[in-house]
Amino acid sequence: MTDIEKINVLLVDDKPANLLALESLLEQPDVNIVKATSGNEALGVLLEQDIALTLMDVQMPDMDGFETAELMRCNERTRSIPIIFVTAISKEQQHIFKGYETGAVDYLFKPVDPLILTSKVRVFLDLHRQRLQTENANHKLEAVIERLQQANKKILEQQRAVIEEERLKVLLQMAGATAHELNQPLMGLLGSVELLLMEQDNPEKVKIHIARIDTAGRRISEIVKKIQNIHQVDTQLATAGPDISMVNRPLIKILSVEDSDMDFKDIKTLIATSNNIVLKRSTTIDDTLKLMKTDPVDIALVDYFLPDGTGLDLMQKMVTGAIDTPVIVITGKGDEMIATQVIQAGAYDYLPKDQLNEKNLFQAISNALTKSQLKNEARVAIRRMAEMSVRDVLTGLYNRRYFFETLDREIARTGRTRSGLVLCMMDLDHFKRINDTMGHPAGDMVLSEFGKMLKDWIRQSDTPCRYGGEEFAVMLTDTDVQKATGVCERFRAALNQRIFTYNQTPFQMTVSMGIASLMSLTHQTGENLIQAADDALYQAKSLGRNTLVVYRPGSAASMK
Ligand code: GH3
Ligand code: MG
Ligand code: MG
Ligand code: MG
Repeated sequence: MTDIEKINVLLVDDKPANLLALESLLEQPDVNIVKATSGNEALGVLLEQDIALTLMDVQMPDMDGFETAELMRCNERTRSIPIIFVTAISKEQQHIFKGYETGAVDYLFKPVDPLILTSKVRVFLDLHRQRLQTENANHKLEAVIERLQQANKKILEQQRAVIEEERLKVLLQMAGATAHELNQPLMGLLGSVELLLMEQDNPEKVKIHIARIDTAGRRISEIVKKIQNIHQVDTQLATAGPDISMVNRPLIKILSVEDSDMDFKDIKTLIATSNNIVLKRSTTIDDTLKLMKTDPVDIALVDYFLPDGTGLDLMQKMVTGAIDTPVIVITGKGDEMIATQVIQAGAYDYLPKDQLNEKNLFQAISNALTKSQLKNEARVAIRRMAEMSVRDVLTGLYNRRYFFETLDREIARTGRTRSGLVLCMMDLDHFKRINDTMGHPAGDMVLSEFGKMLKDWIRQSDTPCRYGGEEFAVMLTDTDVQKATGVCERFRAALNQRIFTYNQTPFQMTVSMGIASLMSLTHQTGENLIQAADDALYQAKSLGRNTLVVYRPGSAASMK
């Protein structure tokens, strides 16, 4: 075992002999003793080292234990380090302790009883370890959240950039088209005005020209309205461009959804210039959906007009069928409105047919692949985060919080479906001995291995949880008490055969179990079910451990 895994305990006493005596009582593989012979020296040590617990003599020359404690309370770093005062003071003087009655303080009276000393120290050290474990889990969770936020940010930036770039392209194209559209009525209008001036003496002609001017004016007004609508679209410029690098990727599978043989041939020719792309083809929406399900591809290049619908129809059906293959839509010339629609519907990109060249195609493919990779990373991070909030870090089993949530859910479900629910509470026997003789890491190893074994042993549908330190709870669903008992009893027997090893030392573990079935209870609540299984477990312990007891209302009978 390395020093890193050891916990520092500080002993403070002005008499070296007392320090030695305490040290010999506290010597344990996972504890590192640090000594100080005065309050001042102790404060120095506390500021330099990570101390989990201080055992402090009260009567010391210069600065006594209480004064030292007072100074510890004034410093942020040392404020919450627990203190056990070791004192020879009489009962009458005990009022002095009043000021120190906080959760982090305890007392030992001289002469020190070794048993009381070790058990009090154990309590504080266990608390310290639990705190470290929680901190550790918190750090891991924070790291996952950070990664998730980064991935999310990247996706958002890329999506914004792509959509804004598309919008700008569309706007420019529409502006060109509108200018062209305006030209005709404007020419008509100007021509009619000219004719009107020339023929102003002929009332019949004047009427005709005015009617033409009116028609042209209305047409122009319609087009102006259209332009005003475009203005309402946000025209902000992209702040960051998409990543266009065609990085070294493994083989990419692309599906061309194209009903026209000629257009497919064009795509095939372009794709053929890259040697890491496998190209497939489908010609209808129906075939595409089937293909995407049976043999998923990395990207689909979708022609907008297909024999059985449009690219938008295909994308809607993909959403319904939970297919998330990235789609690049190939549009016809002048289909800018379609382009914006498909981007808004979730297409990764669009390419007008007349701009289908090697550069544009590969750029679109590369962008889509990067975006889809980021999306997947975010999805994995979200799943991991959800997992971590319901899992116990050490054993990988569900945690206590999840246990309580699920128990309530299962009880409600059991009531509805009239299926059986059985709870088995397990507690490792004499587990403390492992910690005491081989150290805490050995205990942790047992808990982790036991967790794995338990998970392998029970059905997928059953829920194994870490209920507390070395206590476990398993919810067995859709079963009766006989079947559940059979499973648990076989697991108990299997554990008897299991040899654990730590630092080359082999050893064995046993477990006691208490089983209760929801059906056997008069008031079928989660609280009562836990209480019943706990009662049975208590019986198992008092019957000598390594046994299983089934709860029976009024009494608890052993299975053995
Ligand atoms: P019994 O047969 O009566 O159940 O005895 P026991 O020693 O198993 O039970 P006890 O409740 O006395 O001790 C349980 C110990 O488990 C106390 C605590 O230090 C230890 N423990 C709790 N959580 C952890 C943990 O996460 N890791 C390690 N290594 N030990 C833990
Ligand atoms: Mg077509
Ligand atoms: Mg135990
Ligand atoms: Mg216990």
